[in-house]
Amino acid sequence: MQKITVLGATGSIGLNTLDVVACHADKYQVFALTCHRQVETLIRQAIIHQPEYLVITDPDYYSQGKELARQANVTAEVLAGSDALIHIVEHADVDCVMAAIVGAAGLLPTLSAVKAGKKVLLANKESLVMSGSLFIQEVHKSGALLLPIDSEHNAIFQCLPATYLYGQAQSSGIDKILLTGSGGPFLNTPISELASKTPQQACAHPNWDMGRKISVDSATMMNKGLELIEACWLFGLLPQQIEVVIHPQSVIHSMVQYNDGSVLAQLGNPDMRTPIAHALGYPERIDSGVNKLDFSNMRNFSFEQPDFKRFPNLRLAIEAANQGQYASTALNAANEVAVEAFLQGRISFTDIARLNNDVLQRTSSLSLDSIDAVIEFDQQIRDQAQHYLQGAA
Ligand code: NDP
Ligand code: MG
Repeated sequence: MQKITVLGATGSIGLNTLDVVACHADKYQVFALTCHRQVETLIRQAIIHQPEYLVITDPDYYSQGKELARQANVTAEVLAGSDALIHIVEHADVDCVMAAIVGAAGLLPTLSAVKAGKKVLLANKESLVMSGSLFIQEVHKSGALLLPIDSEHNAIFQCLPATYLYGQAQSSGIDKILLTGSGGPFLNTPISELASKTPQQACAHPNWDMGRKISVDSATMMNKGLELIEACWLFGLLPQQIEVVIHPQSVIHSMVQYNDGSVLAQLGNPDMRTPIAHALGYPERIDSGVNKLDFSNMRNFSFEQPDFKRFPNLRLAIEAANQGQYASTALNAANEVAVEAFLQGRISFTDIARLNNDVLQRTSSLSLDSIDAVIEFDQQIRDQAQHYLQGAA
C-alpha cells in the first residue's frame, strides 16, 4: 500500500489524481490533502478518502475549514499555512507526493518532497522553470524518483529509452524532441481580435479542462514555452534540441526523434488521468478510467509551426531558455503577475506578453545559486511587474 500526499488536491490535477486513486483502493491510500481556499471541496474529499492530515494554506480560511471538518466528523488533523505543507510531504509514512499546486507557491513543498527522497509526481512545472538546475541537483542528491505529469513530458518520458535518467538522454541517439501543443482557443482567431478576448474566452480550451492560470498560458502559448524549459531540465537537453509543433487535435502528446530517423510518439485521448495513472503506477501500468482511442473515428491529424506574431510569449520563453536561469525565473514571475491581472480584468489579453516582454528586457543577468536567491529574485520581479502594471493603469 502506497501512502500519497496530494498538494493542490482541490484543483484540476488534484481532482483527477483522486479519481485515479479511488479506482485503486487496494494500492493507494491518501495520507494528506491540501487546498488554498476551497475548503468545502477539501472536506468533501476528506469524507471520501479519510486522510490523516488536511492543510489549508490560506490561514484566513482555516477556521471555516476546521469547523466544516468537525461538523462532518472528519478525523484528519487540520493544519494551517504553507509551512504545514513541509510536514506532510516529508513525513516518514509518505511514499508518494503529487505536486499539483499552481505557480511559484508550489516550489518549496515540491522541493521538500524531492529532498526527502519521495516519489514525486511533478505537475507544478513552475517550480522547475524557476529553479532548474538547483532542483535537479536535489533530485540527484536525494535519489528521489521524479516523474513528469505534464502530458507532453510524460509522453516524452514514455518514448525515451528505458535507461533514461535526468540529464543523460543525450547519449541515447536522440536527435530532437517534438513538443506538441494544440495552439489553444485562439489558434485561428484573427490577430487583430486578440486584444479584446475575455478571461472566459481564454479559459475555454478546445481539448483540455484545466485550472484558469494554465488555461490562459495555453491561450498565449506561454504554457508551451514553460514546458520547453521544463523539458530541458527534465531530460538534460538544450533549447535547440526541442521543436514546438502545433497539433490541434491533442492526441499525440509529444514525440522523440532518434538519429536513425525513427520517431516515437505517445498517443491518447486528452485526459490528464492517463499521465497521472502512468506516473502513479510506474513502472507498472494501471487503469486510469480514460476512454481508449478509437482509430476508426480519427480523422485529420494535422501539424503546423507556431506563429510567433500570434504567440509572442512562446518566443519570449525560448529566448529566456537560451539566456539562462535568471531569465526563466523572471519570465515565470512576470507571467504569473500578468495572468492574474488579466483574469481580474485589469489588463487585456495582449498586454500579458507586453508586460512579460517589458520585464524580461529590463532584467540583467545574475547568478541564482541558492533557492533563497531564487525566491528573493522571484519576489523582486513580481514587485517590478506590479509597478509596471500600476504605471500602465
Ligand atoms: P488549479 O488552479 O485547478 O488548482 C491549483 C491548486 O493549487 C488548488 O488546489 C489550489 O487550491 C491550490 N493553490 C492555489 N494557490 C495556492 C497557494 N498560493 N498556495 C498553496 N496552494 C495553492 O490548477 P491545475 O490543477 O490546473 O494546475 C496545477 C499545476 O499543474 C500547475 O502548475 C499547472 O501548470 C500544472 N498542470 C496542469 C495541467 C492540467 O491539465 N490542469 C496539465 C499539466 C500541468 P484552491 O482550490 O483552494 O484554490
Ligand atoms: Mg502540458
